[in-house]
Amino acid sequence: MVPAPSLRDAVATQAVRVLNFVSRTTFGGSGTVIGGRVGLALAPHLLEDLSATRTICLVSGTNGKTTTTAMIAAGWGGKVATNETGSNMPAGHVAALAASKSSSVVLEVDEGWLANVLAATNARVVTLLNLSRDQLDRANEVRQTAGRWRNALAGREGITVVANANDPLVVYAAELATDVAWCDVPTPWNTDAASCPRCTLPLHFHEGSWWSECGFSKPLQSVTTLGETLVVRDTVLTLDLRLPGEFNESNAAMALTALSYLGVDLHEALDRVNALSSVAGRFSLRRWRGHTLRLLLAKNPAGFAAMLGTLTDDGADVWVSINARIADGRDPSWLYDVPFEMLRGHRVYCFGDRRLDLATRLDYAAVDYVVVRDESALPTSTVPINVVANYTAFQDWRDRSGPC
Ligand SMILES: [Zn+2]
Repeated sequence: MVPAPSLRDAVATQAVRVLNFVSRTTFGGSGTVIGGRVGLALAPHLLEDLSATRTICLVSGTNGKTTTTAMIAAGWGGKVATNETGSNMPAGHVAALAASKSSSVVLEVDEGWLANVLAATNARVVTLLNLSRDQLDRANEVRQTAGRWRNALAGREGITVVANANDPLVVYAAELATDVAWCDVPTPWNTDAASCPRCTLPLHFHEGSWWSECGFSKPLQSVTTLGETLVVRDTVLTLDLRLPGEFNESNAAMALTALSYLGVDLHEALDRVNALSSVAGRFSLRRWRGHTLRLLLAKNPAGFAAMLGTLTDDGADVWVSINARIADGRDPSWLYDVPFEMLRGHRVYCFGDRRLDLATRLDYAAVDYVVVRDESALPTSTVPINVVANYTAFQDWRDRSGPC
């Protein structure tokens, strides 16, 4: 006999909890995917059912979604259900919802899955950060992703789209939605939006504005602006983030905008967002073999450009670690789109499975580098060393280092 939907959901939800518990305690996993997969196999509508009566906020984009999701979770206050380990496909969403009964939910969503998750959840707010190329050997071309978002959001009622007005691909994705809150936040990377998504003619960028000959252009009315000060829906706020980097100020501006549409008091949210100091091990200080390291994650050209921009011009050594395993994308040719020229004046130590590819790229960029073959011979530093690593390389550094 096929169980009734509610019983089926209850069984599936319990299966998610048990399997994730076993995964965490027995196999040392993060316990967020296996249970979710089994739950969805038992009850294919589990994501719809578990999210039905809750207030849902979704966050998507190529870069910054884990941090922005963490900012929204922190800024909301109280208990918030969230996929904090970054498992950002439906199995991870089901796991997060099964693990917490909280009525407040913020979910990071993989760009390729956003249309499906929008269809499955009755989301109140969706935050769209940016779109740039990432793992093109297995992911969609960014224009296709923008088109799928656009189709999913066109004319959709009951949802506020918090969207970056400085990313033409995000504007293309959001412009047909019924309720859009445009955010005018600094977005230096526009290399992936060289041509107009409407007409394919070149886009023009000039002094914080952008436009195409066909009339497609930056939205004029933004509810949020970030310059010398941050203004969110007429409220002036002072950002004093513990997280580094200008890109995190843009992330915070968008997180606070989303929170405002979720009914959260902006001043209370601001204090909680300012206090956030580390997200899933990122930006945190770690110890390894007598060295103090600051771990920075960057997975693609735009992410690397943002992270390299946080390094001070002090000539200090920088460690860069590159792998090209399945989770990173097997093809490391994207290294040639990273502006490594920004590291001139620093000495770069090359780590990771693909350290020779990195060294070759740095050679073309005229950056001083050392390929690390003997880790015991590394010079020690009196100040924390910045370690910029892509996905699995970052995990390797987090695993091999200890807390400070
Ligand atoms: Zn155009």
